[in-house]
Amino acid sequence: MAKKKASKKAPKKQTRKTTALPPDERKKQAAKVLRRLAADYPDAECALVHDSPFELLIATILSAQCTDERVNIVTKELFAKLPTPDDMATAPVKTLEKLVQSTGFFRNKAKSIKACSQALVDDHDGEVPQDLDVLVKLPGVGRKTANVVLGTAYGIPTGVVVDTHVGRLSRRLGLTDQTDAVKAERDLMEILPKKSWIDFSHRMIHHGRAICNARKPKCEECSMRKFCPQVGV
Ligand code: SF4
Repeated sequence: MAKKKASKKAPKKQTRKTTALPPDERKKQAAKVLRRLAADYPDAECALVHDSPFELLIATILSAQCTDERVNIVTKELFAKLPTPDDMATAPVKTLEKLVQSTGFFRNKAKSIKACSQALVDDHDGEVPQDLDVLVKLPGVGRKTANVVLGTAYGIPTGVVVDTHVGRLSRRLGLTDQTDAVKAERDLMEILPKKSWIDFSHRMIHHGRAICNARKPKCEECSMRKFCPQVGV
C-alpha cells in the first residue's frame, strides 16, 4: 500500500507585533498605562537614596551602567566622608576613585563628580541649579541626569526620564519605536500629560524590575497584559 504523504502544513504564524502602535492610538494607550501604573505602584519613588539635590545629582551620575543598589552602598560611605560640594571638589581624585570604584567606569565617574562639584562651588554657590539648560552644562550631567534631579529633587517636570527600563517597557507597550533614549523621550512627551512625567518614569522602572524584566517578562502576571501588544516579546 502506498504510504500516505505527510501533510506539509505551514507552521502557525506568530501574531507577535514588531512595531509600536499607530501614532493616533498611542495617546489612548498611554492613558491606560498611566492608570494601571498608578493603581499598581501608587508610592513609587526614586530608588537612589539621597538627602539633598546635591546627593541625588552625584548618585545619578554614579548610576550610569550600574544598579541602584550598588550606588546606594557606595554613596552611603561617599556622602558620610564628603558631604558637601566643597568636600567633593577638594578631595584628591584618587580618593574619589577608590570610593566609587565598585560602580564601574570609576575613573571617569570620579573625574565627573569632582568637576561637577567644583562647578557648583565656583558658579552656583554650592547649590544645584533648578534649570535644565544650566544643569546640562555641568560636567558629567546629561539630559537624563538633569531630568532625574529636577523631577525628583525639585518636582519640576522637564522631561521624561528614559532609562533602560522605561525605554524597554515603552517599546513593548507600543508607545514608541525608538531605541534612542532622547528620541523615545520626545515620543513619550508628546503622548503623556506633563503632570505625569515624573511618576510615569518611577512607576515604569518599578514595573520593569518587578514584572516586565528584560530577559523574561512575566506577561501572565502582568496587569497590563489585556492591552499590551507585547512588541518584540
Ligand atoms: S504584558 Fe508582558 S510585555 Fe507587556 S508590560 Fe506586561 S510584562 Fe511587559
